[in-house]
Amino acid sequence: MSLNLDRELATEIHQEKKLSLDGLKTTIATPSVTRHIMKAFNLRASKRLGQNFLVDANIVRGIVEAVGAKPGDRILEIGPGIGTLTQGLAESGAEVTAVELDKKLPAVLAETLAGYNNVRIVPGDILKVNIPEIMGDGPFKVAANLPYYITTPILMALLEKHLPMSILVTMVQKEVALRMIAKPGGKAYGALSVAVQYYTKPHIAFDVPPRSFIPAPEVDSVVIVCDVREKPAVEVQDEKMFFKVVKAAFGQRRKTIANAMKGAGFSRDTIEAAFAKSEIDSNRRGETFNLKEFAALADAIG
Ligand code: SAM
Repeated sequence: MSLNLDRELATEIHQEKKLSLDGLKTTIATPSVTRHIMKAFNLRASKRLGQNFLVDANIVRGIVEAVGAKPGDRILEIGPGIGTLTQGLAESGAEVTAVELDKKLPAVLAETLAGYNNVRIVPGDILKVNIPEIMGDGPFKVAANLPYYITTPILMALLEKHLPMSILVTMVQKEVALRMIAKPGGKAYGALSVAVQYYTKPHIAFDVPPRSFIPAPEVDSVVIVCDVREKPAVEVQDEKMFFKVVKAAFGQRRKTIANAMKGAGFSRDTIEAAFAKSEIDSNRRGETFNLKEFAALADAIG
């Protein structure tokens, strides 16, 4: 890192043994270095942009390990912030492309990550950038400490596009992670569970306490690993119809699936024919359906 740390801070960091081995690249993931960078660039964490910066090098290491980052990998990072996780990913030797929405941060990242020539910062909104264009051909991995205000839209956008991703490792609110891995029948099971499990095999890697961030979020966090499936978990004739049925089922989850579908605009004839064909009980609630049953119902409509 090319920032000139003042003498006092440098001594403090050195005593904490947080200086990386070559003594040149200061680890960003500590409270003192993060505060120093924020002060030096006159930065305030923006609540609106979901900015909670990681200040725990063990968590960064855990994410890098979960990604399995290594030389030759191409990694897309969403929201690099001041470069904390980016640095860990870059240290692995992988090529990192990081998309950051906050217009102030590319100039900061140019300094904090000056020592790495395997990092490329792309200013922009991850929901708007053309990912195939910035990532080019071939498989890539995704790593992120996601902004919590748009976790679900980001996950859905990444998954629905059938990008050549092999793995998605992200920090999310614990409550969202529990929805991502939920099985039929429980309260946490919903459209997000179906979508994540249709495209990937998710598991929670580890918990992350609020004190691992500056500022500390008001919620508990976890790192979730989603291994992207080569083929979706169930075969469907029409993916759009599959997700239309899933959305309808959870749009009015207290209703029977047939009534929920009616509420979502499916005609009475379509619904009756689909249940007759699929031999599924139309009085069940959507939240009891597994992926296979949603697929059978959608195919019966298609
Ligand atoms: N990766 C850093 C870390 O771990 O300390 C920062 C994580 S912070 C939780 C989320 C980051 O995502 C912030 O830097 C924020 O500015 C950025 N961000 C928010 N919305 C975004 C969007 N739509 N596209 C790209 N980045 C976004």
